Formats: sequence, C-alpha cells, structure tokens
Amino acid sequence: MAAQTEESDTAREQTKAEQDVDQVRQRAVRDQQRLDSGAVTSPKDLENLQREIASLAKRQGDLEDIVLEVMERRESVQERVAELTERVASVQSKIDDATARRDAAFDELDGEAAAVTKEREVIAAAVPADLLKLYDKLREQQGGIGAAKLYQRTCQGCRQELAITELAEVRAAAPDTVVRCENCRRILVRTSESGL
Ligand SMILES: [Zn+2]
Repeated sequence: MAAQTEESDTAREQTKAEQDVDQVRQRAVRDQQRLDSGAVTSPKDLENLQREIASLAKRQGDLEDIVLEVMERRESVQERVAELTERVASVQSKIDDATARRDAAFDELDGEAAAVTKEREVIAAAVPADLLKLYDKLREQQGGIGAAKLYQRTCQGCRQELAITELAEVRAAAPDTVVRCENCRRILVRTSESGL
C-alpha cells in the first residue's frame, strides 16, 4: 500500500512537472511569434524579447530534466509495486492452500469424533454403573484419562513403573477386579503385554 501511495504521489508530481514545462514552452512560442511578426521594432524591445526567449529555453531545459528525473523515480516505484503485488498474490495463495487443508482436517476430525463418540456410547452402556462412575471421576481429576494400559509393568497414564509389591498384588488380583495405579490412581487395564 505504501508503494502504491508513493506511485500515485510520483504520478501527480510528474503531471505537475510536465505542466510547468508546457507553460514555459507556450510562453516561448508566443515570444517567438511576436519576434517573427515584426511588430516589435525598437532595438531595446527586440533585445529584451530575445533575452527572454533565451532564458525561457534554459528554463525549459531545466524543467525537462526534472520531468526525466521524476519519470525515472516513478518507473522504479512501479517496478516495486509490481514485485510486491506478485508477492502478495503468492502469500495469498499459500494462505488459501493452508486454509483449505485446515478445513479438510477439521472435517476429518469432526467425522472421527462422531465415530468415536458413537463407539464410546456403545461401550459405556456395557460397563457397570459404579465402574463407569469411578472412571468418569478419575477422568475428570486426571486430565481426561481415567484408565490406562499397564504395559511392560509401566502405567501408561503416569509412565511410572510399578513397584515389585504392587506388581505382585496386580498379578494376584482376579481378572474382574478393578486394579488401580498406586501413583496416579487411574484404573489399570491389564493385557498380555502387561509384563505380569
Ligand atoms: Zn499411574
């Protein structure tokens, strides 16, 4: 935006400089016509007129230099505007791409969440009410994880390895007994990989 503002400022500057040149040129043309018409006869007036024409020519040259200088500046600003416009377009296309990928990921996650929620409902219906109550309470207390797998003697909830005595207790517990981690109090889920 700054570059575009600079470009329009420079365009205005160029118009103004060109108008200045035009004004001087027109005046010189008028003077020349008067000189050529032969209407001016006094040697002093003729001399003044010729001097003015010469000074106007010099002034026109100076003003034309200014026009050229402004045009050069404007050209470089235009190049900068074009370059920045291209960069904006490239960044915008990256944003569009990232937005599309994010939206697709959201859709996928929504679908996954719906499927998991349904699955959970089915499983929860089969769990005894008091166990479900305990699980929900622990889940609330333990950052969303109420039960953890016991994997190679380690509680996957708190990542602590079970002590020997604790392991012995878990080993001795009946398969339908609810065992819990001594460290984090989560329900421990025993599997063939529990290392018991
Ligand atoms: Zn634990």
